[in-house]
Amino acid sequence: MPKSFEDSFIKVAGLIGGPEYMIVAKALSTAENSTDEEIAELTELKINIVRKSLYDLFGRSLITGTRVRDLKRGWFVYRWKAQHDQVEPFVERQKKKAATRLKQRLNYEFVNEFYHCGNPTCIKYTFDSAVQVAFKCQVCNLTLNLYDNSDLKKALDFKIKEITTEDDTD
Ligand SMILES: [Zn+2]
Repeated sequence: MPKSFEDSFIKVAGLIGGPEYMIVAKALSTAENSTDEEIAELTELKINIVRKSLYDLFGRSLITGTRVRDLKRGWFVYRWKAQHDQVEPFVERQKKKAATRLKQRLNYEFVNEFYHCGNPTCIKYTFDSAVQVAFKCQVCNLTLNLYDNSDLKKALDFKIKEITTEDDTD
């Protein structure tokens, strides 16, 4: 298996489920067509953790499972394999989703005015909700003032550009 694919497969698994998924993905890269029990043995992870990772990766089409009969025991088991050609489309889909979410958030920041008491731990109010509470913070009782969200808008805009213009060299 090419190194670059192996790396991105493991990286993506880690992004989805953290270190345990990475360990499972790594085991699957070195021991293709393993069963869940074989992977559990290889990684020393608990079988239920291995199964959870495998079913999740399977549900996202990042691995395939082939049902085969276990000759020793007579029942059916699944042999799992990474789906080489699914990693990049998966990453692309995730990027699109993230960009869409950020754009919605940016739009929300653009169409709304926000009011805040100045206390970092207190929530921000939209204009309508600020009217409802007569411009008084419901937590600390201070007056709500118009909140300048231009820094947040700039940060969101930057992040959207970063995601949508990122080239796929890694
Ligand atoms: Zn407050």
